[in-house]
Amino acid sequence: MSTKPNGSQHEDDSNVIDTTGMSEGKAAALELTEASREGHWEYPTFAGALFMGEFPWKLIHPYPQKPGDRDERGEEFLKKFQAFLRESVDPDEIDRTGEIPDSVIEGLAELGAFGIKIPQEYGGLGLKQQYYTRAAMLAGSYCGNVSALLSAHQSIGVPQPLLQFGTEEQKRRFLPRCAAGEISAFALTEDGVGSDPARMETTADPTEDGEHFVINGSKLWCTNGIKAKLLVVMAKTPPKIKRGREVNQISAFVVDVDTPGVKVTHRCRFMGLKALYNAVIEFKDVKVPRSNIIAGEGKGLRVALTTLNIGRLTLPANCVGGIRACINMARQWANQREQWGATIGKHGAIADKLARMSSTLFAVDAMTMLTSVLVDRKETDIRIEAAMSKMMGSEATVDIIYDTMQIIGGRGFETAHSLAARGDYPFPIERGMRDNRINTIFEGSSEIMRLFLAREAMDPHLKAAGEAVNTKLPMGRRLKAAMKAAGFYVTWYPKQWLPFGGPSTSGLEAGLAKQVRYVAKTSRKLARRMFHAMLRLGPRLEREQILLGRFVGVGTELFAIAASCARAQHLINQGKDRAETLALVDHFCRESRLRVDEFFRGIRKNNDAVGYKLAQNILGNGASWMTDEVIGETPLAKGKVKAPEDPQMVAF
Ligand SMILES: Cc1cc2nc3c(=O)[nH]c(=O)nc-3n(C[C@H](O)[C@H](O)[C@H](O)COP(=O)(O)OP(=O)(O)OC[C@H]3O[C@@H](n4cnc5c(N)ncnc54)[C@H](O)[C@@H]3O)c2cc1C
Repeated sequence: MSTKPNGSQHEDDSNVIDTTGMSEGKAAALELTEASREGHWEYPTFAGALFMGEFPWKLIHPYPQKPGDRDERGEEFLKKFQAFLRESVDPDEIDRTGEIPDSVIEGLAELGAFGIKIPQEYGGLGLKQQYYTRAAMLAGSYCGNVSALLSAHQSIGVPQPLLQFGTEEQKRRFLPRCAAGEISAFALTEDGVGSDPARMETTADPTEDGEHFVINGSKLWCTNGIKAKLLVVMAKTPPKIKRGREVNQISAFVVDVDTPGVKVTHRCRFMGLKALYNAVIEFKDVKVPRSNIIAGEGKGLRVALTTLNIGRLTLPANCVGGIRACINMARQWANQREQWGATIGKHGAIADKLARMSSTLFAVDAMTMLTSVLVDRKETDIRIEAAMSKMMGSEATVDIIYDTMQIIGGRGFETAHSLAARGDYPFPIERGMRDNRINTIFEGSSEIMRLFLAREAMDPHLKAAGEAVNTKLPMGRRLKAAMKAAGFYVTWYPKQWLPFGGPSTSGLEAGLAKQVRYVAKTSRKLARRMFHAMLRLGPRLEREQILLGRFVGVGTELFAIAASCARAQHLINQGKDRAETLALVDHFCRESRLRVDEFFRGIRKNNDAVGYKLAQNILGNGASWMTDEVIGETPLAKGKVKAPEDPQMVAF
C-alpha cells in the first residue's frame, strides 16, 4: 500500500462509515467531521503508513533537516527571546496577580514574538516552524501564561488559518496587524460545543445583498479574548442541500473586536494559567463583510481542523519546555537532598523516575522537532505525527510533573511564594502542575486525539472496504465494493506476514538499527491485528473506543521509537555525546516496547465490555448506596447545566 493511504483511490469518503444504528447526535457529529476532514492525502505519511504495515523510513532518515534550515535571524531571535523572558518576565508574579504586565506584552511585540512565522512581507519575522517550535519550548520551560498568550494568537488565532487559507487581500489586511502585536483569538467553543461542533448554535446569516453576514451567538473559553483585537469566529451559515439532504455549514470569519455588537461578558478563571485572558464573548447582530470569510462559505470546520494539524504542535513544544524544567528541578533536588544516608537520587525509586523522565523527554522532543522539520519540508503529511506528539507529549508531561512533585516532596506541594517567604528555594512545581493539567483537555482532548488518530489510521481500510460493509448502501454497490476490496486485500494481507524486506539501516548505529528493525516488524503485526479486529467486528470496530485506543497506542509508540532513532543519529552525527544519546534512546525504547506488549495483550484479552456495562449501571444510578455518605454538593448554574437527579452524585 502506498504511504499515501488513499493513494489514487476515490476521494468521496461520504459512504465509508456506516452510521446505521448510531444516535442522531452521533451520526450528525460524525457526518460533519467527515465532511470537514482532509479526505485527500496529497503527501505521504510516515506514521500513518505504520498502521498499514509499511515503514517508509526514508521519509525521516537521513534526518530531514537541511543545512539551509539554520537561520541566523532565527538564532538571534531565540537568544533575545530567552534573555527577555529571563530578565523581564516574572512567572510567579504573573501567576499570583493573574495579569501579564503591559510592559511584557509590549516587549514581546517589539521582539516580533507575535509574528514568528508571519512572512517578512507582511511585517513578521518569517521564521521556519522549527524556530517557532523552539521558541514555544523556551516559553514552555518558563511561563505557561506567556506560552498560552503567544500560542493562542499564532497557532489557532488569526495568523495560522490565514497563512494556510487566506486570500492575498486578507493577508495584507490582517497579518501586519497580528505581526505588530495586535492580539488575536480563536472562538469555536460554546456552552454545548466542546468536542462536538455539530451542536453549534452561533449563526451567521447573509444580508439581503449577500455582501455581509450577521453573527449572533455566544462563545465560551476564548483564550486571549479579553485582550484580542481580532477573532476567528466559527458560526453556522445557511445549510446546503447535498444529495437531497440538508447539510449543516460552518464558516470561519475574521471579526474585528471593534465591530458593534461584540461584547466580552465574562473573564474565565482557572485552576492554573491564572493570567489567561480567557473570555465569554457575545455577538449580537455583528455585521461582518463576506470578504472576511476564511477559505469560503461552509469551509470553517475544515479550516479549524486543518489549522490545528500544525497548530497543535505548539502544545508538545510547550510540554518539552515544561519537562526540561522538571528535570532540572528534580536533578538539583535529588542531588542535594539527603535522606536515609544517601542523596535521594541514589535511592532506586527516585532514580527510576529520573530515568523515565529523561528518556521520555528525548522521545517527545524528537517527535516534536522531527514533525516541525517535516512541516518546513512540505513533502509529507504531518497530521498524524502532530496529533501523536500532542497526545503523548501532554500525557507524559502530566506524569512527569507528578513525578517531579513526588521527588521534591513537601516542598513541591508548597507554593513558590511561600517557599521564598520562608527562605527556601522557590521550586515552581506547584504552579507547573496547575498550568499544565489543561494540556490533555484543550486543542483536542486525549480522548478526541485517539478517535482522530484511529480514524486516520483506519482510512486506507475504510477506503478499501468501507462501502462493502455499509448497510445503508444498496446491495449491488456493496457487492461491487466487496470485489474491489478483495482485490486489494489478496495482495496486501500476505505481505503483512513476510519476514523479509526490512528497512535499510545504513548510516545507523547498531543500537539504533536494532530498534528500527523492531518498528518495521511490529508495524506489520499492528496492521495484521487491526485487520483481524476489522474482520471480527466489522463496522462495530468504529465504536470500540478502548480497543482502537490500543492500536493507536502501538502506532504512537512506534512513531516515538522511530523519531527517537532518526533524531539520535542526527545528533550523534552533529557531535552530541554518542554514549549519552544512545543510553537515552535505549531506555526509552525498552520502556516503549513494554507498553507495546501491554497494548497487544489488551487487544487479545481485556475487560472492556465488562467495564462498559458497569459504567452504564453507575450512570443509571446503580450502586448509589456506595456514594451515599457525602456532605458536599456542587452548586449547578440553573438552566445552564442539567442537574443530575441526585445532586450528591456530583459532590467532590
Ligand atoms: C483554559 C481553556 C482554554 C481554552 N481555549 C479555547 C480557545 O481559545 N478557543 C476555543 O474555541 N476553545 C477553547 N477552549 C475549549 C476547549 O478546547 C474545550 O474545553 C475542549 O474542546 C473540550 O471541550 P469540553 O470541555 O466542553 O469537554 P467535552 O467535549 O464536553 O468533553 C468532556 C469529556 O468527554 C470526552 N469526550 C467528548 N466526546 C467524546 C467522544 N466522542 N468519545 C470519547 N470521549 C469524549 C472529552 O475528551 C472529555 O474528557 C478552552 C478551554 C479551556 C479550559
